[in-house]
Amino acid sequence: MKKRLQFLVQRIQALRAEHDKVAQAALQDTLQRQPLILGLAIFSMLLGAKVNWQSIGALAPTALQGIRHASSLNLIMAVWLISAGLFLNWGRSKYCNTTALLALATSFLIFGVLRSAIDQWGSGSVNMFSLCCVFTGTLILIRPAHAIALYTGSYLLFYIAMALTQKNPVILAINQAQGFAAAALGLLLAFLLWRKHTVTTLLQQQLQASNEELQRQKQQLEILSQLDALTGLYNRREFDRLANIELVRAKREGSDTAIIMADLDFFKRINDCFGHPTGDEVIQKTAETLSQNIRASDIVARIGGEEFIILLPKTSLDEALVVAEKLRLSLQENAIQTQISQTIQMTASFGVTAMATHQQGSLNALYAAADLALYAAKNKGRNRVESQNIS
Ligand code: GH3
Ligand code: MG
Ligand code: MG
Repeated sequence: MKKRLQFLVQRIQALRAEHDKVAQAALQDTLQRQPLILGLAIFSMLLGAKVNWQSIGALAPTALQGIRHASSLNLIMAVWLISAGLFLNWGRSKYCNTTALLALATSFLIFGVLRSAIDQWGSGSVNMFSLCCVFTGTLILIRPAHAIALYTGSYLLFYIAMALTQKNPVILAINQAQGFAAAALGLLLAFLLWRKHTVTTLLQQQLQASNEELQRQKQQLEILSQLDALTGLYNRREFDRLANIELVRAKREGSDTAIIMADLDFFKRINDCFGHPTGDEVIQKTAETLSQNIRASDIVARIGGEEFIILLPKTSLDEALVVAEKLRLSLQENAIQTQISQTIQMTASFGVTAMATHQQGSLNALYAAADLALYAAKNKGRNRVESQNIS
């Protein structure tokens, strides 16, 4: 028994949490049709008042008082709805919240109760209460807890109103039964529409969340496909793409473009002596040193095991030679401290080339010249900078 009660409490809590999630969307949904709800209701009130008023002449004097009251009530309700519409700016005001919608729904149901009570003087019908229950249940999305309170309260009011106004016990019993059916129907409609709204909204929310996640993963993949996994620098493919864009821009603007190729000296020994993980660390630290010593507008990439390339926009060969020398010194002077606390002194050889404004050439020509210069630096004893003009 206790377990069942616990289960029930948990289920109610889960439902409440679910309702909280979709409440805002339900409010927006209802607000969208608020002009329709108010417009339709105001039109019905005014039409009802006019028809009632016109039929006065054809009625027996006993029913006259009821008809007058019914028309007056219709007019009062129309004025109330117009005022509510103006106050809520037909669904656009900041006061359009759940409380406002509940107040609107309550006023429809109270109107139904009062109109049906007045109708007991004449026709003895409870149609207005039934109509209001169906109208409210269909057009205003109310969460189940509120709907139960609203329809139960209205039915109790209706029950008492009937008892006070209908003197014929048979008609009274029929009316109270009909009113019960109407309130139950209104409640059922409110439940069903809320359920449908909840399922649709949750699905939409899930869809939106997975779409966002997909977009995020796509962006991450795009970034990852551009970067070298070990160093976080651009990879060869992305470097080629950015460099080609840069060369087109340089040609249009008439500026020089330089390339520096760097290769660590005797790197194989590091792997052999300290192992691959330390070798990886050296590559990472070298990448950091290179990145820290160039401008933000320069493009640096890792293009092989321990080979790096840097594109320097708007830079002549002479200027690039200065940069390369600065990088060489920086590597030589900053011994690398590895995690297993070895200090490793690394040097690198540099090949530099540049494409001047007047020269015609492709990225491949730049690659080839820088590679030749690097080869020369290695041949001349390493830890040095060499240059080569593009052919
Ligand atoms: P040199 O001065 O002529 O450039 O000699 P080197 O030993 O640096 O040149 P070599 O090209 O012979 O060696 C490069 C080495 O880099 C070979 C390879 O084992 C190593 N290597 C390539 N990629 C990686 C990597 O991702 N991590 C590590 N730890 N080593 C790598
Ligand atoms: Mg090397
Ligand atoms: Mg190499």
